Amino acid sequence: MIYLDNQATTPLAPEARDAMLRWLGGAEGDGFGNPHSSHRLGRQAAVAVEVARDQVAALFPPGGQVIFTGSATEAINLAIRGSEAGRMGAPMALSAIEHSAVLRTVEAVSAEVTILSIDAEGVAASQPNLAAGTGLVAVMQVNNEIGTVQPVEEIGEAAHRVGALFLCDAVQGAGKCEPPANADMIAITGHKIYGPKGVGALWVRDGVALEPVITGGGQEAGLRSGTLSPALCAGFGAAAQAMVDHREEDSAHIDALWTRARELFAAWALNGSATRRHRGNLSIRRTGLDVARLMSDVREVCFSAGSACASEAKMPSRILAALGLSREDAKSSIRLGFGRYTTMDDIERAAELLNAGAAAQGV
Ligand code: PLP
Repeated sequence: MIYLDNQATTPLAPEARDAMLRWLGGAEGDGFGNPHSSHRLGRQAAVAVEVARDQVAALFPPGGQVIFTGSATEAINLAIRGSEAGRMGAPMALSAIEHSAVLRTVEAVSAEVTILSIDAEGVAASQPNLAAGTGLVAVMQVNNEIGTVQPVEEIGEAAHRVGALFLCDAVQGAGKCEPPANADMIAITGHKIYGPKGVGALWVRDGVALEPVITGGGQEAGLRSGTLSPALCAGFGAAAQAMVDHREEDSAHIDALWTRARELFAAWALNGSATRRHRGNLSIRRTGLDVARLMSDVREVCFSAGSACASEAKMPSRILAALGLSREDAKSSIRLGFGRYTTMDDIERAAELLNAGAAAQGV
């Protein structure tokens, strides 16, 4: 099996797995304490959580706090629903290519939503026209479907000029790109940085006031009640640390895979900018391609048709539509996602199979 779906999720790094084992909590060990208990076992677990918090904090700018959540979707909900703008139902603006976690949540709380369009390269304008009175602006760092990198710092400045908070969904950029220094809130998740599923984080700049969405025992500075999982936090922390430690190596590896893949898939058209892009995302199309048939013919390769989240809905991707692609071109697109553990052999073999699959369809 060749795994080329690293935007949907990443395999668990060995460093993350090792860090989790003790805290999975077998009765024979000492790793099962509740990190919110004040006895010795609890304090040990709390230390593991705090070490992890510091490791995750290294992916964010200085001057804020890390709130652990169950996913990036939950972090995004806390940012939007918990902000004053969310509670007041204030006007909000977001890019046309935000993840559904942002789009659906903004739609649920705000009656006045401005969609910031993207250009034919898949990039939002760096100087968006934001109305006075806008309470929150949300733009992602790297798009999950087409990999384009957004001018988040400039958009953050524009948001601040009209007095709005700036939320950045950095799920696909964390540990690969510099964090947006002027964001007020940044959401990330463990399972896209070779950490475990079931844990995410919201970074909140000091001075930004939030109200909890999940209430109860008051954990996570009162912003997210519920007993934390030390194992998930420790795995997330170790994965974050590994992103920092392997950053240059990962980036050189992904560049090499991208360069070879562009040669091997030269007959396919690229979706989105070739330069303003995370190179681990190769979103490509062949007009007339039947993607469902390709997936069924090439089962050895795990790849995606559009985003994993949207593909269940069987709708042509709204991200590819925002890029200006026709319905037919959007439907004939596939996404290949490379990561730290993808090999050059994976790319060569996948290209052989996918190109043969497309040729069998006569496209
Ligand atoms: N934002 C982006 C850009 C994503 O790619 C994803 C996951 O697909 C999410 C948010 C949601 O992350 P999670 O699975 O942790 O809820």
